[in-house]
Amino acid sequence: MPSAFNILVIGALFCVVMLLVLISLLRSGIPGVREWSVANGIGFFALVLYALGQELPELAAYELANGTYAAASAAILAGFRRFFGRKVHVRPLLLGVLTVTALIALFHYAIDSFALRTATVALYQGGICFLIAMTISRSRQAWRSHYPYVFTVGMAGLIAFGHAVRAVIYLANPAELTSLLQPSPWNLFFLSAGTFVLPVLTIGAVMMVHDTMMAKAEHAANRDFLTGAWSRRALFELAERELSLARRTNRPMALLMLDIDNFKSINDTWGHTTGDRVLMDAVLRAETAIRSIDYFARVGGEEFAVLLPETGRTAGVKVAERIRVTMEGSASAFHVEGQPDTPAYTVSIGLAMLRDSDSFQELMRRADAALYAAKASGRNRVACD
Ligand code: GH3
Ligand code: MG
Ligand code: MG
Repeated sequence: MPSAFNILVIGALFCVVMLLVLISLLRSGIPGVREWSVANGIGFFALVLYALGQELPELAAYELANGTYAAASAAILAGFRRFFGRKVHVRPLLLGVLTVTALIALFHYAIDSFALRTATVALYQGGICFLIAMTISRSRQAWRSHYPYVFTVGMAGLIAFGHAVRAVIYLANPAELTSLLQPSPWNLFFLSAGTFVLPVLTIGAVMMVHDTMMAKAEHAANRDFLTGAWSRRALFELAERELSLARRTNRPMALLMLDIDNFKSINDTWGHTTGDRVLMDAVLRAETAIRSIDYFARVGGEEFAVLLPETGRTAGVKVAERIRVTMEGSASAFHVEGQPDTPAYTVSIGLAMLRDSDSFQELMRRADAALYAAKASGRNRVACD
């Protein structure tokens, strides 16, 4: 069986490894990485103090070791809160660390009890793990996938539970357990759980950072920078997929091409910045008029395409008309906090239905021709090919 010393040294080295990984992620600028790095740095120091316990003055082995380990756990929690954009309550965290340190001193100098010291640490660490699990599960809407978040909540929950059990066992049998470095199986089990809490939670944190970076990269590759609509490149990829699905399932598909009317004069009258806001406003409005399975993409300056899977001609015309009406409606319904309402504008829309022999380019060409007809017959209208 590994000795307590070995477990603590392995834990300390694990912290160093995680610190090195986190340093490589610092430049991602993702909130929380700095706090997690600090936590592993302090955690390494604390675990070394625990490991060398018997060689060091008591103040270092007891108060300093437990105080710094408590600080490392507080920093891990702060990292998770920052990651999810939640407020970090620095004062309560500091107070927690100071309270643990003071209680350790009390159960060291006034009432010398190893069991009470251990129970104090276990309750504190368990509390921190519980708060981490709560922070992550309460931020569910920010989860982009499941694995990293479920893993971390699971680990934090498990460790919180383990610490609670540990506190109960130590308080129930104060006489039997007298040292952190005792080689009993239970002590070694709890010691391992307590030692690996920082690196294990950090692994969860690193997975969450990777998940965020992947989501950002996907967003940058597939979304239009200004409006957040699908990019032209993404539309072509999505359309290929939808096209073959429509053919396989023998379902209709409609494509709308949409162009803002007299956009040049909006730019000329109100300025380019207002023009940009109109583009963003158009995407905001359109998204209220389409289903979640439809794709709204920006294909050019003020030109958009709307891919409507599983949509026949009558339904397609209805959607196009709904989009057109939504665009000419009052600006106040789409007011963006802190910005003036956009000037009134209209759009023209061309609709084409997918035909058997169509490529996506061909479908787009026919929808474009219909759009041209809508423009030619007076704008602010829907035309079909
Ligand atoms: P029509 O009704 O015939 O569509 O008239 P229009 O003025 O909208 O026609 P046109 O396509 O000639 O004008 C498009 C203008 O959109 C020209 C260009 O300066 C402007 N534009 C293109 N991209 C952007 C952009 O990202 N932001 C802003 N503000 N303007 C843009
Ligand atoms: Mg235009
Ligand atoms: Mg145009």
